[in-house]
Amino acid sequence: MELLKKSAIELAQMLRAGEITSVEITEACLDRIAAVNDRLHAFLFVDREGALEVARGVDADRAAGKDLPPFAGVPVAIKDNICQHGTPVTCGSKMLEGWIAPYDATVVANLKAARLPIVGHTNMDEFAMGSSTENSAFGPTVNPWGEDLIPGGSGGGSAAAVAAYMVPWALGSDTGGSIRQPGAVTGTVGAKPTYGNVSRYGVVAMASSLDQVGPCARSVADAAALQEILSSHDPHDSTSLPQVATGLHDAAAEGLAATDLAGLRIGVVTEMAGEGFEPGVLAVFNETVEALRARGAEVMEVSCPSFDSAIAAYYLIMPAEVSSNLARFDGVRYGNRVEPTSGPVTSETMMAATRGTMFGAEVKRRIILGTYALSSGQYDKFYGSALKVRTLVQRDLEAAFAQVDVLVTPTAPTVAFKFGEKSDDLMAMYMNDMTTTPANLAGVPAMSVPAGLSEGLPVGFQVIAPAHEDARMYKVAAMVEAIADPSARECPVEVGEK
Ligand code: GLN
Repeated sequence: MELLKKSAIELAQMLRAGEITSVEITEACLDRIAAVNDRLHAFLFVDREGALEVARGVDADRAAGKDLPPFAGVPVAIKDNICQHGTPVTCGSKMLEGWIAPYDATVVANLKAARLPIVGHTNMDEFAMGSSTENSAFGPTVNPWGEDLIPGGSGGGSAAAVAAYMVPWALGSDTGGSIRQPGAVTGTVGAKPTYGNVSRYGVVAMASSLDQVGPCARSVADAAALQEILSSHDPHDSTSLPQVATGLHDAAAEGLAATDLAGLRIGVVTEMAGEGFEPGVLAVFNETVEALRARGAEVMEVSCPSFDSAIAAYYLIMPAEVSSNLARFDGVRYGNRVEPTSGPVTSETMMAATRGTMFGAEVKRRIILGTYALSSGQYDKFYGSALKVRTLVQRDLEAAFAQVDVLVTPTAPTVAFKFGEKSDDLMAMYMNDMTTTPANLAGVPAMSVPAGLSEGLPVGFQVIAPAHEDARMYKVAAMVEAIADPSARECPVEVGEK
């Protein structure tokens, strides 16, 4: 267990010092997965052989004295909507069950170039739609902090895998909070990079103008290091930025070591620090802000009025893009075909049977909503107004960042809730995303860092930075990590063990 609790950075140091082999670390992760995955259901696919093969290659090259990338041999997991050549990718949906990815996503190519053994694919809400993993067609993931608790969503599998020491770090995708909210409720770190910083090529699209791949880890420095591995300019993704992210890990190290925060201007978003938040969450949030102030940071309230409407705009723009992106799953181009059982067999009835059978309720709901919002009579009223709100969110953020270096909010309104608690109350489920969606709408980087405990469960603190200032985000998040109660990021290990 001692080994599994180490950070990716520590493991990389041990590997470089020859104190351990990649095969030993990878086997420890695989054994841990084998021991707890039946209960936690964080992984949908485990690639023992594939991961060990990479580990053996790294060990052999190290023994031969070859030059290796800094994190070579440290295992990683990926969310099951990221294509890895020759392995099954389901997106948590029956639609893609049994599909084998024919190529590598650019982020997977980057992981391979960094020589990280990929131990498997993690569970998620179907096509990344949800906040609890209850929408996975293969059953939910359990939060390692408690048997009856959701691990957040849609990337609950990656967050639970990292929290439960099955793997030191993992990849998620964040369209409206799916890396950050799972991070908040599992006591892990989750970051959404600046839009375009990490390639989306080979990542199954949910809402293309919002989707961004990013890291899940147990420390800010690990998350920063993983984003540096992921970030690249990619000609296959037309929205990929020309500049790659550098200096993130150094920024995190600087933030962690800083004791005098004078000169740092922190904005508390007025609209995100009162109504709608659990008192325990607000208490941890306020204590953290006070601790930052006590270390010399200048704290001020900043109003972002559009944030109140951001969630409504998100729940129009996202389904509009979903309805378009998921049209390809029709039993012809993609997806498991279902023939109609009665009536004439035409391409139309086959597609109806395929989509009717293979998509779950939430996916269907969003496709219908998005199709309606884009329909000719309704376009201006719904999609058009949502785009206007999106512009207002961008303007509010620009104005805010003229006054402060970063904005902060609680990452989620509550701590981990119980299975079933919100699955019948869609509004309550959607309101989970009120703090996280503004960053996606504006394309700016945002991350969650564990700040403390409320009733024994982790509370996440969100740091939002201006576009391209990912290094600043990591630096401030590391400052939060330095003052936070460490028990918020140390999941009790016995949970999840038989
Ligand atoms: N909870 C959000 C939703 O259901 C998160 C989606 C995401 O980031 N993939 O849309």
